[in-house]
Amino acid sequence: MNEEASHSTVETVDPARVRAFVSALRTRTTIDVVDDAPALAIAGRATIPYPKQPGAVVYPTSVEEVAAVVCLANEFRVPVWPVSKGRNWGYGSATPAVDNTVVLHLERLNSILEVNEDLAYAVIEPGVTYRQLKQHLVESGSRLWCDCTDGPPQGSVIGNALERGMGVTHYADHFGTLCGLEVVLADGSIIRTGGGAFGRCPTWNTHKWGVGPYVEGLFSQSNFGIVVKAGIWLFPAPESYCAFTFDLARDEDFPHLVDAMRELTLAGLLTAGAHLINNICALSVLSQYPAGMAERVSRLPEAVLVEQRRRYGVPSWSFGGGIHGTHEWVKNVQRRLRRRLKGMGRLTFIDDRTLLAASLIERTVRGLPTATLRRGGEWFFRQMTGKPMELIGVARHVHEVMRGQPTEHFVRHVYFKTSMSKPAEAHPDRDNVGAIWFAPAVPMQGAEVVRTLDSLAALYREYDFDFYVALLAQNSRTLIALFCIFYSKENADETRRAKDLHTALQQATFAAGLQPYRTSVQAPTGYPDGYAKMLQQIKAAMDPNGILAPGKSRISAP
Ligand code: ADP
Repeated sequence: MNEEASHSTVETVDPARVRAFVSALRTRTTIDVVDDAPALAIAGRATIPYPKQPGAVVYPTSVEEVAAVVCLANEFRVPVWPVSKGRNWGYGSATPAVDNTVVLHLERLNSILEVNEDLAYAVIEPGVTYRQLKQHLVESGSRLWCDCTDGPPQGSVIGNALERGMGVTHYADHFGTLCGLEVVLADGSIIRTGGGAFGRCPTWNTHKWGVGPYVEGLFSQSNFGIVVKAGIWLFPAPESYCAFTFDLARDEDFPHLVDAMRELTLAGLLTAGAHLINNICALSVLSQYPAGMAERVSRLPEAVLVEQRRRYGVPSWSFGGGIHGTHEWVKNVQRRLRRRLKGMGRLTFIDDRTLLAASLIERTVRGLPTATLRRGGEWFFRQMTGKPMELIGVARHVHEVMRGQPTEHFVRHVYFKTSMSKPAEAHPDRDNVGAIWFAPAVPMQGAEVVRTLDSLAALYREYDFDFYVALLAQNSRTLIALFCIFYSKENADETRRAKDLHTALQQATFAAGLQPYRTSVQAPTGYPDGYAKMLQQIKAAMDPNGILAPGKSRISAP
């Protein structure tokens, strides 16, 4: 038995029932389904340790087919796990929480049904990706921009929003920008939330709250329905925008930087999506473990870390974000940032002009006739900017995502601790990369953040992994502390330790009274009993046969 298999729990869906379900699906419908062992082995890959395995994968192409699958699932008492694109890397990818659950893959529902230029929203299906939406807006000559994540360009806009993922602009709160859902319920019926319940209501995708109880939240991070359409708010291309990066000079100023971030966001000068990343996070974007080292050690030796930081000009903490608005607004925010961060480190703005200038310098230096001259040019660039010249490429990607253009550049950082080089297009499931995300929410106060980081960093040391953290402004009061555990899947001991560290991080977080902002498919949420009971009651009412995503957010039918 392999290492992964030995960790599955006894809870599983009866394979005979899955076979009967698949056979009925084949005879009664034309819906595509795969259940051969090689295909399932691929579908069951995930960057988390010991993922649960799907019993089959079903690919409906329309809302009616989704409803038909759900009806059959009820008939055969076979649970289905909806995924939109299944790029939920680090949280379980496209794998379920219970072995043999049938994955209901929605990637073939991939139409952009409407773009409303006046009211600045789109109505899309779950298979629509960030790349597809941006391309559609560009090619149709729209004046609208979408927010995107710095994650996979092929990730689903709806999938990410339902998991309450974060982007990079003032529209970074992705669930906050969803408005108006169409949902297939567990009994196969199709409903619309908010104004959509009133037929052709013109505010379905503009007025978030509808009338009466607000129910859209029921379909986020839950297993109460399958979202098959959603309105997503877009924003008009701003007159001006830029990105900024800030290198903190002294570690002891870190809590003051968190407090400055809060003040600047509360004042409305910075927005959700601003982020503060530590040295391992920055290095994982810029570099990889030196050749041959990933197999030998489970974290970078201190001397290598120091050398890598020097080579790439990486400080202990870097702060960054975007500024969007009128020319005057962008200039004003730049001025205010300069004033607030004065004396704390080095602030750099990345806009069209600075990028053009940097590209010209880069081209000139690369075109110098001798290696000595080129090295001299690079040395001079470093003296002027404090950064190596290869960072110009990274700055281009930073600038791109700030206008909603997704890029592979940042997500490739999950290959930091691998022996293979970063591929042009990241697919860590395919490449057997080990990475686990864990993300508690923390109040945006320097002292609170330091307390949380100190206790969790100690666990990283104890379990011997690189301490990776990125702090994302979820709003002006809350930071999402995004921790990653990079580990080698080929190394059984490391895999077990990575899982144990994940468990230890969860326990420490719950003990401190904090909650995760989202969870990995198999991870606990930390609900107290009374709260869990209420969710079970909702589940019992909405899905009495327990056929939708059992175990999602630790909710199952009673
Ligand atoms: P992405 O490709 O954007 O990363 P996924 O498709 O992997 O997103 O979805 C992440 C998780 O969100 C899934 O595992 C599932 O629990 C939930 N989810 C995704 N799409 C839907 C949907 N259309 N309806 C209900 N839940 C969904």
